[in-house]
Amino acid sequence: MILHGKPVAEKVLGDVRAGVERLKAASGVTPTLAVVLIGDDPASQVYVRNKKRAADSVGIATQDFIHPAGLSRGELLDLIRRLNADRGIHGVLIQLPLPKGLDEDEVIATLAPEKDADGLHPENLGRLLAGAPATVPCTPAGCLEILDHYGAKLEGAEAVVIGRSRLVGKPLAQLLLARHATVTMCHTRTRDLAGHARRADILCVAAGRPRMVTGDMVKPGAWVIDVGVNRLDTGKLAGDVDFDSVSAVAAAITPVPGGVGLMTVAMLMRNTLLAATRQVGGGR
Ligand code: NAP
Repeated sequence: MILHGKPVAEKVLGDVRAGVERLKAASGVTPTLAVVLIGDDPASQVYVRNKKRAADSVGIATQDFIHPAGLSRGELLDLIRRLNADRGIHGVLIQLPLPKGLDEDEVIATLAPEKDADGLHPENLGRLLAGAPATVPCTPAGCLEILDHYGAKLEGAEAVVIGRSRLVGKPLAQLLLARHATVTMCHTRTRDLAGHARRADILCVAAGRPRMVTGDMVKPGAWVIDVGVNRLDTGKLAGDVDFDSVSAVAAAITPVPGGVGLMTVAMLMRNTLLAATRQVGGGR
């Protein structure tokens, strides 16, 4: 089974659109996302354009805060504090990576946790760890959404996550654990990566290494989630999973492109709606 992201993302966006309508009807409030883009990284510009288009399609308003790479640390932190205080802004997206010289951890930590649309603030990550209501990082949340949509059985499953970044691997492992999978996390110091991978019923790969997981590393019947997005020298996109050899062994696999990538933007929209709903209701 090919786990296409499109129908899942469309379902999420449809639900968000309906939620936005309900919130507007009940409170007169339009959920509003501030988009902070510093510098002129072309990939970031494409991502931001896609996110704004998705927001538009579900009725979420966006406000742009676009600055050249020379913006100082103090100016950026002031901007974030102004957005924190602005009651007309419900979510803030800080497009990463920030230009060299700006400390991403400091900037994210300055953001009000309730406006952290990407779910990367330490308070939200801590809440995720504690099992408390939290804004969940978009890409891992999208992986879970795909698994659920297609009916993966998570409880009791052996889940292996390759990659331990704050953005993907760690929160994804936490989400799988919260769903009662038995979770193994692998990284560059893991001794027998293939051995761990071969035990997985659910194999999630977020390493940023094109086609590093091959068919001989996958258990027959496994579900494989490929988070990787790698631009090859040929200009083509490749995942972290070698689709041809792995799809011959796995029961289910996400394609790249067309899999997890489509989910990230959809989950950002859901996070923004949830943030607005909580702020209108006075909760978190
Ligand atoms: P990252 O911050 O570079 O983290 C990569 C992780 O993979 C690290 O924990 C690293 O281990 C581990 N790793 C790298 N090479 C490995 C190897 N050979 N064996 C085992 N582990 C290895 O990357 P990221 O931000 O998590 O992103 C991962 C991939 O997902 C990238 O391709 C990125 O483009 C993609 N991505 C896609 C989306 C989307 O929307 N689809 C969103 C975010 C990211 P160490 O910790 O030991 O260094």
